[in-house]
Amino acid sequence: MDTANYNLAMTKYRHTDRRWEEDEVKKELPRTCPVSGKRIYTSEREAKSTAAHRMSDKETHPTQLRIYRCLHCNGWHLTSKDS
Ligand SMILES: [Zn+2]
Repeated sequence: MDTANYNLAMTKYRHTDRRWEEDEVKKELPRTCPVSGKRIYTSEREAKSTAAHRMSDKETHPTQLRIYRCLHCNGWHLTSKDS
């Protein structure tokens, strides 16, 4: 194999490999609600622990968060308590 063919083969391989990785990343992304666009938590416990973690973050100092069950996606969401 000469150098040109070798490089072509490597480029092809890397391109294929990268596409595969992107597909894997997509699968790892958190699901979001088609109606509210919010992150879906699959359990009340997961939503609660995330809310508690975010409220304890002094850097962002968020408002109170509450969790609620969504009728549309059947998951749990966090929402800011406005008043
Ligand atoms: Zn939802």
